[in-house]
Amino acid sequence: EPSAIVPTEVSVQPDVRVLGAREHNLQDVSLSVPRDATVVFTGVSGSGKSSLAFGTLYAESQRRYLESVAPYARRLIDQAGVPDVDSITGMPPAVALQQQRGAGNARSTVGSITTLSSLIRMLYSRAGDYPDGQPMLYSDDFSANTVQGACSECHGIGRVYTVNEQQMVPDPSLTIRERAIASWPTAWHGHQLRDVLVALGYDVDVPWQDLPRKDRDWILYTDETPFVPVHSRLTLSESKAAIEAGAEPSYSGTFVGARRYILDTFANTKSASMKRRVAQFLTAATCPVCHGKRLKPEALSVTFEGFDIAEFSQLPLRELITTLSAVTARIEREAASSGAVSPRAAWEDRIAGGESPQASTSDVRPTVRPAPEKRAAAVQLASGVLQRLRPLVDLGLGYLSLSRTTPTLSGGELQRLRLATQLSSDLFGVVYVLDEPSAGLHPQDVAALLGILDGLKGRGNSLFIVEHSVAVMRHADWLVDIGPGAGEHGGRVLYSGPPDGLADIMESVTRGYLFGGRGLPLRTPREARSWLRLENVTRNNLHDLAVDIPLGVFTAVTGVSGSGKSSLVSQALPSLLGDRLGRAVLADDEPVSDESLLADAPERLDGRIAGPVTGVRRLVVIDQRPIGRTPRSNVATYTGLFDHVRRRFADTPEARSRGYKPGRFSFNVAGGRCPTCEGEGSVMVELLFLPSVYTECPDCHGTRYKASTLEITWRGRTIADVLSMSVEEANLFFVGDEEITRSLAALSDVGLDYLRLGQPATELSGGEAQRVKLATELQRAQRGDTLYVLDEPTSGLHCADTDRLIAHLQTLVDAGNTVVAAELDMRVVAVADHVIDLGPGAGDAGGTVVAAGTPAYVADKGVGASAGYLAAALQ
Ligand code: ADP
Ligand code: ADP
Ligand code: ZN
Ligand code: ZN
Repeated sequence: EPSAIVPTEVSVQPDVRVLGAREHNLQDVSLSVPRDATVVFTGVSGSGKSSLAFGTLYAESQRRYLESVAPYARRLIDQAGVPDVDSITGMPPAVALQQQRGAGNARSTVGSITTLSSLIRMLYSRAGDYPDGQPMLYSDDFSANTVQGACSECHGIGRVYTVNEQQMVPDPSLTIRERAIASWPTAWHGHQLRDVLVALGYDVDVPWQDLPRKDRDWILYTDETPFVPVHSRLTLSESKAAIEAGAEPSYSGTFVGARRYILDTFANTKSASMKRRVAQFLTAATCPVCHGKRLKPEALSVTFEGFDIAEFSQLPLRELITTLSAVTARIEREAASSGAVSPRAAWEDRIAGGESPQASTSDVRPTVRPAPEKRAAAVQLASGVLQRLRPLVDLGLGYLSLSRTTPTLSGGELQRLRLATQLSSDLFGVVYVLDEPSAGLHPQDVAALLGILDGLKGRGNSLFIVEHSVAVMRHADWLVDIGPGAGEHGGRVLYSGPPDGLADIMESVTRGYLFGGRGLPLRTPREARSWLRLENVTRNNLHDLAVDIPLGVFTAVTGVSGSGKSSLVSQALPSLLGDRLGRAVLADDEPVSDESLLADAPERLDGRIAGPVTGVRRLVVIDQRPIGRTPRSNVATYTGLFDHVRRRFADTPEARSRGYKPGRFSFNVAGGRCPTCEGEGSVMVELLFLPSVYTECPDCHGTRYKASTLEITWRGRTIADVLSMSVEEANLFFVGDEEITRSLAALSDVGLDYLRLGQPATELSGGEAQRVKLATELQRAQRGDTLYVLDEPTSGLHCADTDRLIAHLQTLVDAGNTVVAAELDMRVVAVADHVIDLGPGAGDAGGTVVAAGTPAYVADKGVGASAGYLAAALQ
C-alpha cells in the first residue's frame, strides 16, 4: 500500500555555486564546488586563482559577515569594493589564512599568536613553584607587555640603550664650536644648540677637555630643556657684552642635552637616515636587572619544573611537549598511588600552600608536594597546552619556541602557526581559504600538513586551497584549474572536478605536471670554477659548521623546514661574503630595523671565509622581503623604468609649454599628485571595532594625480593610464623605446607579464617581490662575477613558472655567475650542479651537512630526508 513506499533518500551534496565572477581577470566565470571537501585551485601565477578563491569567494563571505555585524559599515564596504560577481550561493562563513610576513609588531611572538602564552602565564600563576613567603601572582604579572609584569628598569624590552662620552665626543681636543660633540645634529640645529649654550654662559671656544667636569656632564647628560633668548654666532664674552648692552636677541632657542637628543631622535624620528645617524652613538646592552628576560624579579622567581617563565618560553615546542607530558603523567601516577587524599597529604598540602611547617615532627622538612587544587590546575592547564602544541609539532614547527618573534618567521611558518591554532579551536561548518600552505615545506613535511588539513575537514569544515604543490593537488577531492595563461590570457575555469579528470584537459598547463612530464630537462652537472670555504659558521642552529660552496655553478641547499637553510644561505653567507667584499649589495634598500642598527645585535654571527675569494666581486641577495612597505613603491618605481616614463611625459610639447618637469609626474612628491590622498590613490577609513578599510580617494578616484597633470598625454594616454597597464600592455605601448622596454622585457622574462606597473609593492606576494628584484637585476649588464643568493625562489610558483625562472638562473650561471639557492622543490634540486643537504632534522636536530655533492651523489647516499625524494625526481 502507498504508506509502505518510502521515497529513497537522495543524498544531495551541498554545493557552493558561483555565477558570473568577473573580479580582476576572471572572465565571467561560473562553477560549483563541493562543501565539506578539499578543493584545490591551480593555475600559473596570475591566472586568477586568488581572484577567485580570495577576491571573490572569501571577499563575499566577509562582506556578508561585516554587513550582518555592522550595518553602518555597508556604505564603506561598498566603497572598498564588493566582488564583481552575479551571485554566490551555499557559501559558509569563511576564515582566510593568507600568507603575510609577520612584519609590524616586534612584540608579537609565537606564543601570542597561538594564544599559548596566556595559558602558560596561567600555568605559572596557578601551578608554579613560589619561593617561601611570596604571595601568588596574577597571570598578567607574568607578561612583559603589562605595566605590572614588566621589568621596571628596561620597561619590558630586555635591553637598555646607553650612550658614553667617548662616543659622543670622540676628539676632546676640539672646542664645541669646532663640533666636539659629534653626536649633535649638523646644520642649523647644531648652530642653535651652540648659541643656546653661549647664552646659558658656557664657553664654546675652549677645548672640550678643558671644560670643568660639571659643565661637561650637564651638556651631555642633562634632561633639563631651558628655553632662552639667544644672540647668534657670538663668543661667550661678546654674548655677555651684548646682553649688558641690552641688544635685541636674534631668537629664542631650546637646549637639549646630547644624550637626550640621541634617545629622543632614535625613538621618534621618521627619517631613516636620521635614525641611522644617531644609532651609531647608541649602545644596546642586555638589561642588568632582568638579564634580558623582560619581567620583574617576583615573576622570574616563580618556576615550573625548574624553569622560570622566560626560560620555559625559550624551549623548543617539541621539548615543551616532553616536559608537560612528564608532569601530567607524574601527577596522575601520584594521585593514583596515593588513593584518597590522606590527612597527612592534606597537611603537607597546607604547608605547600604557604603555612609554616612548625608542626613538623621530624627535622627533615616534608617533601613539598602540590596542593590538590594546585595539582588539578597543573594537570588541567598542562593538558590544554599539550592539546594545542601537538598540531604545531605535527606541522613541522617543533623547532620554534614561544618567545620567537613573528618578524623573524617566514610567511609559510606564520601561516602554519595560524593553521595549527585554528585546529585547536572548535570551529566547524566554516570554509578555510588557504594560500599555498605547503610553502616552505620539505616534501617530507607535506605529508603532515595533509594530515592536519584532513583533520579540519573531518570536523565538518571545507577547505579552499590555492596551491602549486603536486602532492597537495593529488590529495584534493576536487580540483579547479584556472588559466590557461596569466592576466587576460587566463581567468577561465578550464576544469572543475575530481583530480583524475584533469588528465583529459589538453589546454591545461597544470595537467602536464600532474600526469607525467617533468618539465626541466635533466642535465650534466657543471664543474666548479673554484670553491668558497666557510668555517666556524655559528648562527641560530648552525654550530661551528664548515661548508664548501662551489663558484661558477648553481648550488641548491636543501633540508627539512627548520634545518638551517635560511640561516646559511640568507644570513651567514651574505654576511661573511659581504664583509669580505666590502658591502653586500642588497637588492633593496628598505629601512633597517632598530635592532640591526644597534651595535651589538644579540645574535652575533661567527664564522669566516677560509682563504682568498677569487672570481666573485659582487654579492646580490634576492630575497622575498617586500620591495617596499608603502603603496608608494611599485613595480615601475622599483625597477627604475618610471623615471624614463616620467621623462617622456615631461618631454611632450604641452608639458614643456606649461613648464612641467619630470617631478610633476611623480606621485611621491607634492606638485602633480593629488593633494587629498597625497598620491596614494586611496584613503584609509577607521572603523570602530573592525579592521580599517582603504577606500578609493574621492578626489582623484584612485588615479593618484591632479586633474591638470592628467591633461598631459603621451601617445594618447595619461601617466595614470600607464600605471594601470600590465607589463604586457606596456611592452606594446612603449614599443621601440629601448630604455623602457629593456626593463619590461626583464619583468616578462621572470613571468610577471600580468603585473600592473602601478601595482603597489604591498600587494605583491613574497614570490612576486622576489621576481621583481630578480628582473631588476637581470636588466643590468652581466659581468659574470656575481654571486646570487636566493631563498626559496620557487615558492609561490606554478611548476611552469618555476621552469622559466630556473632557466633564467641557469643563463646567469652560463654567463659565469654563481647561484646559491635554498630550495625544496626536488625537480629543481635535481637540475642543480651541486647539492648541500642540511639536517638531519629541524632546530637543534639539524644544522649539519648531511650530504654534499652532485644531485645523483646526494640521492645515492641515501641518508637524510631529501635523498629519497631527490632520487625520485632524478628518474
Ligand atoms: P593567481 O592567484 O593565479 O596568481 P591573481 O588572482 O592574483 O592570480 O591575479 C589574476 C589577475 O588579476 C592578474 O592579471 C593580476 O595582475 C590581476 N590582479 C590581481 N590583483 C589585482 C588588483 N588588486 N587589482 C587589479 N588587478 C589585480
Ligand atoms: P630553514 O631555512 O631550513 O627552514 P632556518 O635557517 O630558518 O631553517 O632555521 C633554523 C633554526 O634556526 C630553527 O630552529 C629556527 O627556529 C632558528 N632560527 C632561524 N631564524 C632565527 C631567528 N631570527 N632567531 C632565532 N632563531 C632563529
Ligand atoms: Zn629589564
Ligand atoms: Zn587622490
